[in-house]
Amino acid sequence: MDGQPVFHKMNPAFLQLLDKCRELAGVPFVITSSYRSPSKNRRIGGSVGSMHLYGRAVDIQCPDGVTRWRIIKAATSLGLSVGVMRSALHIDNREIPIVFDYYPRYGEGVAAEE
Ligand SMILES: [Zn+2]
Repeated sequence: MDGQPVFHKMNPAFLQLLDKCRELAGVPFVITSSYRSPSKNRRIGGSVGSMHLYGRAVDIQCPDGVTRWRIIKAATSLGLSVGVMRSALHIDNREIPIVFDYYPRYGEGVAAEE
């Protein structure tokens, strides 16, 4: 994490959904990543085509299982996609919603579908 969230480069429709998601989840959202420039996305190892590049994704700190459940429940009820990290969730509004993880698959370290 470096810098502050870049809300003015975020997709307005996504921000509205994110606000609704926060309301439904009933927990504060501590956002650790929002819009990313292509150079920043490359630097931090984000995937090619990451929704962060389009201002349609955030990463939210998520320290425990209860908070994780509340946010995933709210996000999926709104048609948002969720990526599960160890202590954070990635939320985006891609066209066809999915739930994905960041775990290496079969030791190959296959890139996350972010
Ligand atoms: Zn993310």
